[in-house]
Amino acid sequence: MGAASETEIIFTSCGSESNSAAIRSALSFSGSKREIITTSIEHSSIRKLCQALGKEGYFVREIGVDSNGRLNMAEFKEALSPQTALVTMMMANNETGNIFPVEEIGLMVKQKGIPFHVDAVQAAAKIALNVKNLPVDFLSISAHKFNGPKGVGALYIRSGVPFKSFIIGGGQERGRRAGTENVASIVGLGMASELAVQNFETQNRHVELIRNKFEKMIQEKIPNISINGGTAPRLPNTSNIQFHGVDGEAMLLKLDQHWICASSGSACTSGSREPSHVLLAMGLDQDQANSSVRFSFGAVTSESDIADAVAIIVQTVEYLRSGEYHPKHSKEAS
Ligand code: PLP
Repeated sequence: MGAASETEIIFTSCGSESNSAAIRSALSFSGSKREIITTSIEHSSIRKLCQALGKEGYFVREIGVDSNGRLNMAEFKEALSPQTALVTMMMANNETGNIFPVEEIGLMVKQKGIPFHVDAVQAAAKIALNVKNLPVDFLSISAHKFNGPKGVGALYIRSGVPFKSFIIGGGQERGRRAGTENVASIVGLGMASELAVQNFETQNRHVELIRNKFEKMIQEKIPNISINGGTAPRLPNTSNIQFHGVDGEAMLLKLDQHWICASSGSACTSGSREPSHVLLAMGLDQDQANSSVRFSFGAVTSESDIADAVAIIVQTVEYLRSGEYHPKHSKEAS
């Protein structure tokens, strides 16, 4: 990520911890300022923390996005104020892959002397990322998003930025994160980073080509679909597709039977389904959000994999749109 020295990095247990550590630390130095600016499409590790901070007396302002997932820049500029304690936002969205212009945003934020935290968990290794060019104070990453081990992350803290440890105890990580380091996982994160840098161009070119072919085939073979966030800048590996009139959860179950792992942004809580807050923020209604499915592609995804997957997706959508499928009586819908 281009850090000037290893003293700017602390290792954590995951991206969520990196996000919490940065946000809590920045707020501990914010004096009487009580406003936090974030966006309406953050990962739950920021969204739910901000909701909790709202209950602790902070005023949280979520900046909206348009129907393509682009941040409302006018609303953002207007929100920056002398009371702003922190700006925290993602670099790329985990559901749609849409990319925020964090360099441009960081310039505005830093001009006003406001701390800036960027959640680069999805972006790292998929788009160019160098803290030398990014006016950020804190930046979070997580190893498993770039083929490293699960359960290890890192937080970049720009040299000179004050930092208060999230975990109190021993003096590990130069007193900035107490607790015995998870050495094996940290080595894994390091190796995954090295490989990601080495293979950056070839890997991402391949992944984008595969993703684009997949989308083209789906568009040619299945009527009434749309690609959520498809016209805004996007990560090369993500495709979030709305299959109009199809129950997304039923589709996931059917695909799973064929060994195709996809996901929806919806969360099932106590039997009821919460549609994706990201897609709702982009203006989709509940049914449209619930008929959307996210596909992700990696270095090992081949052309024949996507051809096989598309054939199964076509069959599945035809079945779920046909009279044969009765949601109320179907196991898939439960
Ligand atoms: N931020 C984003 C954008 C993510 O997509 C994720 C995980 O999916 C996280 C944060 C949390 O990372 P972790 O699962 O390592 O805690």
